[in-house]
Formats: sequence, C-alpha cells, structure tokens
Amino acid sequence: MLETLRSIVQSVNGASGLKEAVDLIVRGVKDAMAVDVCSVYLAGPDKDYVLMATDGLNPSAVGKVRLKYDEGLVGLIGLRQEPLNLINPADHPRYAYFSETGEERYHSFLGVPIIHYRKVLGVLVVQQREYRRFGNDEEAFLVTVSAQLAGAITHVAAGADSIGLLASPTDRTGFIHGVRGAPGVAIGTIVMPDPLGNLLDVPDREVSDPKAEERAFRKAILLVQEELEAGSVRMSNVLPRETRALFDVYVMLLGSERLISDTVERIHAGMWAPAALRETIFDHVRVFEQMEDPYLRARAEDIRDIGRRILLRLHGDADAAQARKYPKKCILVGDEIGVGQVAEVPVERLAGIVCVRGSKMSHIVIVAKALGIPAVMGLGDLPLSRLDGHSIVVDGYKGRVSINPKPAVLKEFRRLVKQERKLSKELDELHGLPAEALDGARMSLYVNAGLLSDVKPALKSGAEGVGLYRTEFPFMVRQSFPSEDEQYKIYREVLQSFAPKAVIMRTLDVGGDKPLPYFPIAEDNPYLGWRGIRFTLDHPEIFLVQLRAMLRANVGLQNLRILLPMVSRIDEVDSALALLDRAHEELQEEGFHLVAPMVGVMIEVPAVLYQAEAFLQRVDFLSIGTNDLTQYLLAVDRNNPRVASLYDSLHPAVLQAIDDLVQKAHRFNKSVSLCGEMAGDPAAVILLLGMGVDILSMSAPSLPRVKWVIRSFTRQHAVDLLSRVMGMEDVRAIRAFLNAELDKAGLGSLVRAGK
Ligand code: PEP
Ligand code: MG
Repeated sequence: MLETLRSIVQSVNGASGLKEAVDLIVRGVKDAMAVDVCSVYLAGPDKDYVLMATDGLNPSAVGKVRLKYDEGLVGLIGLRQEPLNLINPADHPRYAYFSETGEERYHSFLGVPIIHYRKVLGVLVVQQREYRRFGNDEEAFLVTVSAQLAGAITHVAAGADSIGLLASPTDRTGFIHGVRGAPGVAIGTIVMPDPLGNLLDVPDREVSDPKAEERAFRKAILLVQEELEAGSVRMSNVLPRETRALFDVYVMLLGSERLISDTVERIHAGMWAPAALRETIFDHVRVFEQMEDPYLRARAEDIRDIGRRILLRLHGDADAAQARKYPKKCILVGDEIGVGQVAEVPVERLAGIVCVRGSKMSHIVIVAKALGIPAVMGLGDLPLSRLDGHSIVVDGYKGRVSINPKPAVLKEFRRLVKQERKLSKELDELHGLPAEALDGARMSLYVNAGLLSDVKPALKSGAEGVGLYRTEFPFMVRQSFPSEDEQYKIYREVLQSFAPKAVIMRTLDVGGDKPLPYFPIAEDNPYLGWRGIRFTLDHPEIFLVQLRAMLRANVGLQNLRILLPMVSRIDEVDSALALLDRAHEELQEEGFHLVAPMVGVMIEVPAVLYQAEAFLQRVDFLSIGTNDLTQYLLAVDRNNPRVASLYDSLHPAVLQAIDDLVQKAHRFNKSVSLCGEMAGDPAAVILLLGMGVDILSMSAPSLPRVKWVIRSFTRQHAVDLLSRVMGMEDVRAIRAFLNAELDKAGLGSLVRAGK
C-alpha cells in the first residue's frame, strides 16, 4: 500500500495543472482501492464544493455538481472535518441527490476531507455498488492519501489558477505562496533566463574529432570565466564587496579540476562536448543535492547555473543572450536563478526575483537584499514554460506572487508600490534626527551588518553604531577558514568605517542554519548542537585566530566590542574570557598596543535567563538575540514553515523574559541591546521602549521605521501600554492591540504594505 501511495503522490506532484492532478487522483485511488467510483470535490469560490473529477460517476457532471458548504454528505464531511463511512448513503438525512451523476447505483460511501494547514480544501469520496461498510484499513488508506495530497493540490491549484488554466478558479486571490526571500513589493514583467542553456534538452551525439571538441569546451570555460569577472565588475557599484565575493565562488567552481577533467574524459570516450558537460554537471549536482547540509545542498543551484553558461558558450549563443532586450521592470523568474543571471539584466531594470526552487540559503537572496529588491523563493511546481512575458506582482513581505494579477490585485499593488516609495522618502527626512521619544527619552539605534548587508547601507542609515556584526559571512563565502590577516583586513575596514561609533562584533556563530561549506556538520538536531561558542571553544585554534584579528583591527580605533553567541553555561564565558586574555597577552608581547574591549554575551538560550546575575558579574553588556531566544523558549524551529505561525516574539513568555532581563541588567548598571528581528518590528518597539532597552539593532532598512515609532510615543505612554500587554495572555491579542495603537498614532503603514 505504501508503494501505491507513494506513486499516486508522485504522479500528482508532477501534474502540469489542477485538472490533470485531480484526474490522476481519482484514477489512482480507484485502482488502488478497487472501488467502483472515486471523486474529488474542491471548495469553490462561492462557499460551495464543486465536483472537479470523477472516475465512475457520469463525467458530464464534472464542474456542474455544486454543493453548498452545508449541503449533502460532502458538505457534512467538510463541516465536521472527519471521515464519513456509510452503507446506503441515500438513507442519511443529509443525503442530496444529483441526477446528473448517476450515483443511485452505488450503495456504499466513504468520504474524507482534504485538509491543508487546518483549511478544508475539499472532499475525496469513494463509492461501491454492493451494500457494505468500508473496512478500517480502507478508511485509513483514504485518510492517508488525502492528507498527503492536500499540499500538492494547494500548489497545483494556485499555479493553475493564476495563469488562467482553469475554467473555475479555486483560489480567489490568485496568489501563489512560497517562502519569503527578501522584503519589498514590485510589479513587473516576467523575464525568464535564456532557455537555450537548458542542459536537460541536450541530445546525445557521437563525436568524430574529440580534440576539437575538447578545445571548444576549454574555450567555453575561459569565456564564461571572463563573463563572470566582467559581471562582478559591472555589479561593483551596486553590490557590496562581500556579496560580490559570490562571483569568485562561481569562478572557482568553474575552474574545478574535476569539472574539467570529468568532461574531457567523457569527450574522449566519444561524447560531444554538450552531452559530456550535461553528464558531468548532473553528477556534481547529484552529489550536492544529497548533502545533509542545507548550505551545501543549495550550491547545486550554482553548479547548474554554471553548466547553463558553459552550454550557452558552447552553442555560441551567449552574445545573443547579452543583446536581449529587457522590459522596464524585470522580474526574473526561474526554476533557479544564479548570481550570474542577475548580472545579465541591467540593474536599473531589475525589480524582483522569483525562484521556483531555491531556499532562504540561496545566494540569490543575499544579492536581492543587497540590491533592495523583493525575492520570493520555493514556489513549487509552476508551469514555467508558459510564463515568459506575463505580468506579475511580487510580495516579498509575505512570500507570494500573483501571475497575470486580477485588476483589483494590480490596482492594490500599484498603490502599495507607490506608498512604499512615499514612505521611504518621508522616512529619509528623519535621517539626521535622534531616536527620541516625545518626552525626550532616548534609545540608541544600531544596525546589524555582516551576514546579509554591508557597511555602506549601515553607514547611510544614520545608525549610531553596529549592534551586531555577524562574522560568519566572510567565513561562509570562502573555501577554507580565513587566515588571521584576511580577517584582520575585513574587521579593520568595518571598525574604521564606523569609528568612533561602536561596532559589536560577534565571534563566529556557525552551526544551526549557518553551516560552513568546507566544514560540514551533520547532526540530527543542529539547533541543539554544535553551534556558536560551543564550536569555537572546541576549536581554540580557530577562535584564537579570530580574537587576535579582532584585537589587532581595534588598535588605535578603540570602538570594538566583542559578543559571544549561543552561551548557555558560565564556564563557557570563563573559558572564552581566558582565551581572549591569552590573545591579548600574546599580541602585547608581539608589540601591539591594545586596549581591552568590552565583552558581552548573547541571550539566546533560556537557561541564561535564570543565571542572569552570574553572567552580569562577568561581562560588560548583554545582547538579546530574540531570533534564537524565541525559537528556544517556544520550541519552534525558526526556519520551519509548518510551524511558522507559532513563531512570534510577542508571545507573553518572550516578553516576560526580556522585561526581567532588562531590569536585572540595569540593577548591575549594565546596558542591554536587542539585536534579533524583533528590534525592527514596529509593534514590539513600543514595548521595548517601555521596558527601557538601551540599544535596538536591526537591518539598515528597518532603522528609519523604528525611529518613526520611537518619535511618535512618549516613554510613559509606552510604559502604560507595556503594563496592559503584560496582563494579556494571547499573542494574537497582543499583536492586534499594538497594531491598533500604531494605527491610532498614525503609523498603520508600518505594519502592512501601504496605509
Ligand atoms: C538572534 O538569534 O536573535 C541573532 C541575532 O542571531 P542570529 O540570527 O544570527 O542567530
Ligand atoms: Mg542567534
């Protein structure tokens, strides 16, 4: 049965549209269960269930039979959200007869709801002529099929509807949901990267002159190398240096000995170069795709992109691709989009990026954020070949797109785009002003840098310092641990750019969702595993090099603060401080004139909350990492879309934890900063002002918005609102209450796109 189930689900996942998907379901289930009828009813636009497919009932009834939500047995199943197993269904008081179906011949009935994330999408029904009750195992099978198919149906339905494949749309809004990549909204024309480079389409062909074939292949590699280097130069004005390093990763992958030698070997075994390339690229892709580590898995995209580029050069078509005309507002849509493909579009015409595959770990997300354009990832099965040139709206805030949007959606998005533009202009005016509440209370606003952004936007944002410099990024875009000198140069540049403003540099925080390509860590529970300080204390040789580089970079500037991530025990702080002392002494012996920097710990692990005093005795400041603190307090994986709705830093437990911590730190005269995403959440900012958090550190684009919130309330008002919120039990009520307060203060446009 398991095999049958798997094959039905697989075939439905591969369907090109909803019609095909539901037809496959009814056929597959009817065969698997050896019943006389299988039908699928899906929730339609008018609060009704529409017969979408049947194998057994009269086919002409499809699309015609509609039952209101409270009508018939189908309606009852939807209402109760549980299976209904009946002998002679016509006897049931809720039975509704539709003569066009011809169902009077069938005397047993089993229906189960199709539910996706609590939402009833429809009902799956099997029927049989004989008078019998379906067995428990049959019922269990149908429930299992239905649960597995719900996700596939949602996807195919949304995709099909939005490109007009369906006569009867199932999703009234027409939005297809994916994963949030980069924030922002955009309207534009779909531009697909050049299809000529599709490796899958390369046919097999014998080769007569392998030498000539090898020469052509090697020349193609060289041309692509040049092309990527030119792309990197072209982007140099718009992308920060660290982000541009991604091009170097490409160039390096391209020069990989295996990639070249494997292809050449295949050529000499008789394949023509494009097919030899296809085989080599797919070999490499398979290796990467099988890796446990999500970062390395995501590199398969880069390999495919490289293969596409070499193929274009082999065909000699790359110049044609370069000469392509691009519409004014391009939304680059592809199965996967590579960094190189983005560089092909004139940057002033690029308005957004949409990837059917891809994840938050894709390099392209980093690029989109750096360019300030929205990106939506992981859209599932879209019929891509039909999309080029269609219009699209992209909502990076919610991770959704609408293809050929309905006039009302388009109108709404025009308004949102305009308002986003207007809002950011208005917020620009706050640039030189302090983050001062209406009664003069001050908060310091810092920016987060390193992982996803760079110093330039941080400097421009008017921040008072860098509240979190994530040192992982320089480690992630290289092929081995960076040397002390390499690190020194990077840290020096950051410290110098901000001096005399403070820069809080966090020591290496790898593990969890931040793996290093050259140091894969395979763990069942990476978030509970070898992360942050746990890793660096186990590798003092790596930790000491980093500390030395930081201390050297601080010479003469004195604006460095050091932050320790993922701390859960006192002895971790003691050991880290001892290593810091050692690095300090070594450098002094080597003749460097050092001033000891302030040191803080990140509050991410709940255990620390209960030992706060002991930590406060040892360090100079605390920095609350609400991204992890929320994840660990609520036991919700911060990157798991299935439980995303449970993840909210306004949960009363999180608020209580932060409030307690601020009070304790202030009793020790130590400052508290908050550097998780919560610091950029306008609703949360009211409460953090009320709690007296000293520093909020956020991404550069959030800073003016947060400043606007602070400048619109008095501290006393924030304290009053905080005490009301502390009396509330439900996170949804808290968010609604705070959003209403933002609305009252005229800041409604901060919590949704548009006013
Ligand atoms: C946090 O956990 O809140 C934090 C800022 O660290 P990161 O998101 O890098 O884990
Ligand atoms: Mg963290």
